[in-house]
Amino acid sequence: MSPDRPILEALGRLKTRPATAPRPIAVYDLDSTLFCTGPRNLAIARAFSEYRHELRPFVEQLEAERMGWNVMADLQELGFADQAILTELRHFWRATFFTDHFVTMDSVYPGAVELVKAVQKTGCLTFYLTGRDDPGMRQGTLQALGSAGFPLPAEDVMLRLKPTWEEDDLAFKTHLFDELRQLGEVVLVFENEPTNANCFLRAFPTSTVVLHATIHSPDPEPLAPGVHVMESLAGDWIQGSDLQ
Ligand SMILES: [Mg+2]
Repeated sequence: MSPDRPILEALGRLKTRPATAPRPIAVYDLDSTLFCTGPRNLAIARAFSEYRHELRPFVEQLEAERMGWNVMADLQELGFADQAILTELRHFWRATFFTDHFVTMDSVYPGAVELVKAVQKTGCLTFYLTGRDDPGMRQGTLQALGSAGFPLPAEDVMLRLKPTWEEDDLAFKTHLFDELRQLGEVVLVFENEPTNANCFLRAFPTSTVVLHATIHSPDPEPLAPGVHVMESLAGDWIQGSDLQ
């Protein structure tokens, strides 16, 4: 089966949906689903290397689009072994990664903007549901969405961020499931975390849940058989959409 098939089929179903059906909702995670956090991680490593010059030759070898989940592990793979400096970097990363300033440095995955717009065009409510926190990252998130060309919060576009940084990402998302059910019918979900994707499929078994296979946190659940995997959001599906 073409990896684009789930999107094509979902778009087709949305276009022929009866007017009396509940409002369709498309849920999008942001980090590592629509946005690539590699440039943010690289910018943080570069900023930190201004204080710890020993890191510079290693940071210079990092490539934004090829970075993993953990920038400390990326540097270790390049041969950097000073644990004390890596621990300092971990603290610096935690203090900077979840901030308005650094979040605007993310890049957008190819096809992401086109996907969200194509789905919106079918009448779907756009629901950005992210583990980013409201106090630290709302302004940067709005700026990043706007400058990338994503639909911004409006009557048919919602953005939900965690009320506090400390709250667990998945617990926050599951707390919003009832709100989603009241708004309409979840028909599409895009996630990069296998555990989250499984959770959405269990909660909304008639929806199309897509795992964007980028990077994810360590030790995920095995992916449920019903979750569709896409290596890239860019693809042939766009040929079949009305965006042409
Ligand atoms: Mg994510």
